[in-house]
Amino acid sequence: KVRVRFAPSPTGPLHIGGVRTALFNYLFAKKHKGDFLLRIEDTDQNRYVEGAEDYIVEALNWCGIPFDEGPGKEGDFGPYRQSERKEIYKEYAEKLIASGNAYYAFDTAEALDDHRKDHEAKGKTFIYNWHNREKLSNSISLSEKEVQEKLDAEEPYVVRFKSPANETLHIKDEIRGAMEIDTSILDDKVLYKSDGMPTYHLANIVDDHLMEITHVIRGEEWLPSLALHVMLYRAFGWQAPIFAHLPLILKPQGKGKLSKRDGDKMGFPVFPLEWKDPKSGEISSGYREEDFFPEAVTNMLAFLGWNPGTEREFFKIDELVEAFELSRVHKGGAKFDPEKTKWFQQHYLQEADNTFLASEFQKLIKEKGFSPEEDYVKNVVALIKERAVFVEDLWEQGHFFFMSPSSYDPKNSKKAWKEDTSALMEELIPVLQNTDNWSSGNLQETVKQWIGQKEVGFGKVMQPLRLALVGAMQGPDLYIIAEFIGKEETINRIKSAIS
Ligand code: GLU
Repeated sequence: KVRVRFAPSPTGPLHIGGVRTALFNYLFAKKHKGDFLLRIEDTDQNRYVEGAEDYIVEALNWCGIPFDEGPGKEGDFGPYRQSERKEIYKEYAEKLIASGNAYYAFDTAEALDDHRKDHEAKGKTFIYNWHNREKLSNSISLSEKEVQEKLDAEEPYVVRFKSPANETLHIKDEIRGAMEIDTSILDDKVLYKSDGMPTYHLANIVDDHLMEITHVIRGEEWLPSLALHVMLYRAFGWQAPIFAHLPLILKPQGKGKLSKRDGDKMGFPVFPLEWKDPKSGEISSGYREEDFFPEAVTNMLAFLGWNPGTEREFFKIDELVEAFELSRVHKGGAKFDPEKTKWFQQHYLQEADNTFLASEFQKLIKEKGFSPEEDYVKNVVALIKERAVFVEDLWEQGHFFFMSPSSYDPKNSKKAWKEDTSALMEELIPVLQNTDNWSSGNLQETVKQWIGQKEVGFGKVMQPLRLALVGAMQGPDLYIIAEFIGKEETINRIKSAIS
């Protein structure tokens, strides 16, 4: 059974790169009727940020990509927070030492610093590995007795992986294909520290194995760790999962990696939800708060590194599940285009059910202090939504269905309201008053006839009438507006405009 995981470190809000990784894992899992896990990789206490885990869970749920197992949704493989699995890692670090694949290292920070400086002075970089490990302070260069004494004296140590010299590793990535790595250039990475905490590498491999992860789908920034991970699986005698490293997400200009800072700089969100930094209090905007629909966001994200191989661009989440293929993920960086998200948003707003839109719109209308009937709002939505991208635009496009104009567009009122307009409107009022059938069709007929009798131009009546009802030269068919707001309101608005 396919089992994949999204394994963020709770060091802050999820950037859209992280959400994209989660999305691709979700799509792959669902496509293969598998499980999608959330594992919180919180072993680095120094980088822990309050509220980040809740944010991650909320973001996944909002995007419509919920996890099957994870914190708060215990399955058979928990706990799903690494900080709650500490004892497990110690046991596995010791296994690697016993099998000769790892060793205790006692070098102090100062000693390592000195080595580094020595090397730098000679124009070299200090790498802790096969070529010098025997000269350093560790369980390879010390006698068994010396090692035991240090351990008994509780000297701080780290456990390092013993990476092999002169070996060519053949590794495979589903997206990048086959790669060869010369192990001589690798350093002996720290796996575990005497403070009882594993590093990312050890915890990640142990958990992926114990949680029976079949495919590791993650960002390209983890590619440099792949050789070590493959060697760790081998050292444990475990079968490694299949790896797939997703391409970088690039800035809109295409140069460089999209960063968390870019959003605020360019005025578009790079986070799914708004985030308030607990330390600085700084607020970063989110797609949810900017009124985007989750469908628009997931559709946009799906195309960052993947395409269906056809011209089709609109995919809701279930359709993405259906169409998604790991083999169609490309290696090249994917350019982030904020305008594209708006375009998806416009599409999904047009497609959205009017009842749903009306209930969203109703919230906004209430905030403005009005409480129209549900059906009325629904009819208004049907009439004006084609000009809207966001629910908020519905107010901009249709506020006059709920309130009389609070002001008249100054530029147009001069043009539309001439000297003789007030007198003309005074005459129109009784005509409207006497119209019993207040349907837009009949209104049109009646007003047209009256204009014909008066022998004035259409514009002379229709323009000021629009100004009176709407407040500006905008909006749909005027007779429909009049029908919607009703006879009394129509006449009142004309009266207000006259005075
Ligand atoms: N904790 C790592 C991160 O923050 C997980 C990387 C991986 O998926 O292996 O992205």
